[in-house]
Amino acid sequence: MVDLCCPLRGACERCYIWFPCLADPARRSSLLLKVALVVLHLVYAGVVFLFDRDLIEKARKEPWYIALYLLLFVATLIQYFVTACSSPGYVLDVMRAVNEANAMFTSRFKQRQTASSKNGGFVVSSDGDQLGRNLLGSNSTSWSKMVMDLYPLGMSTRTLTCSYCNVEQPPRAKHCHDCDRCVLQFDHHCVWLGTCIGQGNHCRFWWYICEETALCIWTVILYITYLTADISRAWWKDAVMILLLIFLSISLIFLFLLLLFHSYLVLTNQTTYELVRRRRIPYLRGIPERVYPFSKGACRNLYHFCCARGSIYDLERLPTAQELEEKSKPFTCLDALTCRCCC
Ligand SMILES: [Zn+2]
Ligand SMILES: [Zn+2]
Repeated sequence: MVDLCCPLRGACERCYIWFPCLADPARRSSLLLKVALVVLHLVYAGVVFLFDRDLIEKARKEPWYIALYLLLFVATLIQYFVTACSSPGYVLDVMRAVNEANAMFTSRFKQRQTASSKNGGFVVSSDGDQLGRNLLGSNSTSWSKMVMDLYPLGMSTRTLTCSYCNVEQPPRAKHCHDCDRCVLQFDHHCVWLGTCIGQGNHCRFWWYICEETALCIWTVILYITYLTADISRAWWKDAVMILLLIFLSISLIFLFLLLLFHSYLVLTNQTTYELVRRRRIPYLRGIPERVYPFSKGACRNLYHFCCARGSIYDLERLPTAQELEEKSKPFTCLDALTCRCCC
């Protein structure tokens, strides 16, 4: 009996020589998922343009309408790939960067000390090496010291060390078993994007679901306009459009709820992992449900999420007992007037 798998296997192996990334099953499935997503988008947009003659006519009369739709279509796909290829903020990468910057600053500082002692003068730092000054100013000499400063006194490094990566985790970091690395402000591992969502890319992820929701709403409008138009057409076209519209509506509900959920997380400075596993996470245990320990007020949380999360050294420390007590206080009328929840 002829083995039909052999030629196929041979073709696959030749393919892996040209594209080595495809040899890894995990990367292969991630790539297939990305291709499937692009095809899905093309099918949904293509079908409506193919079936709806009125839409083609409208594109001729009002080209800006279709141009805006296509712009949103392309922007959504670009945002998807940008998010999928972005780093969620791996603890190992940040640790290396911190230690390298620290070593570089220490050697530069020593060189200057040697040069100034030879000249018989004082050392005056005039450059803008903020990181170096921060590290030296806080007397921090390594990643371990930097992480320990983020926890209350008396914590042991052993309890904070990830047993898989062998690295000290800052507060809110978690080991992802899919990525096999610790992620800063771990939110969740997104199968659809093939990457983790964490401190480094949560903002990009929010924008992606926002654009995808907008695109979905616009596509639903195009489908409904086609189906409600008073023109004679083949029944099977209607059947295809109704079937696609049902799936599109389900996706839209899911996307809209996801957008609302992540907006709530952003405004309260929480992650999906912290919300779902609140009772199991040691640093959240015992904190009342309505108290958000990392929240700095809705406006500041929003600003921090949009503008300040780019820095890899932006690590959050655990709130003290006094700060938690302050946050647990019930809201009064004065708090509502002074916008305590916002600032
Ligand atoms: Zn780890
Ligand atoms: Zn992951």
